[in-house]
Amino acid sequence: MRVLVIEDDMMLGGALVQALDDAGMSADWVRDGHLGEEAASVGGHALVLLDIGLPGRSGLEILRSLRAAGDRRPILLITARDELDDRVAGLDLGADDYLVKPFEVKELLARMRAVLRRHGGQAVSTLNTSEVELDLSSHEVKYRGKGEVLPAREFALIQALLERPGGILSRAQLEERLYGWGEEVESNAVDVLIHYVRRKFDKDIIRNVRGAGWMIPK
Ligand code: CA
Repeated sequence: MRVLVIEDDMMLGGALVQALDDAGMSADWVRDGHLGEEAASVGGHALVLLDIGLPGRSGLEILRSLRAAGDRRPILLITARDELDDRVAGLDLGADDYLVKPFEVKELLARMRAVLRRHGGQAVSTLNTSEVELDLSSHEVKYRGKGEVLPAREFALIQALLERPGGILSRAQLEERLYGWGEEVESNAVDVLIHYVRRKFDKDIIRNVRGAGWMIPK
């Protein structure tokens, strides 16, 4: 899953990118309000973490213009302790939730999962098909009676495929989901990940669709 981080604080931004990366997501980080709005309107991110106090353009202005343009993606505000009025304004403008600095990464990830569940209309914290089950919080995959906790990228791969069971994702689509901007991606990176996952479970867990990509059947 790709996440857009719009945050001008170098320490916090860096920590967020690292935390998201550790959790199997790929984060793109923008440090300025104007660039942030541009990056957000290009799309491609499943969720936006948006600081309120930004140089150039405030988080609230960005939020307002994204919602006005019909952008319904989950947006979580990052606010300072003394920004109560801004938090309220943000929620009224259509933010899904907010976090007050300083916050624990654990809480950020839990709130992101909650917001994504609400958007996906899911009441549970797992994704599954008839044969594969993925726990979004523990990163454990269960397949034909075998359970394994997957490392970050393998988890992200299974998550991408399970979001639309039976739907085919091409190499380019998977690369876009799994890797951030400017990240060097080896031409066989996706194949290597798929190989690792199959080795842990079985070849059948991910199906090849010749010339089109990969899928996990419903
Ligand atoms: Ca700031």
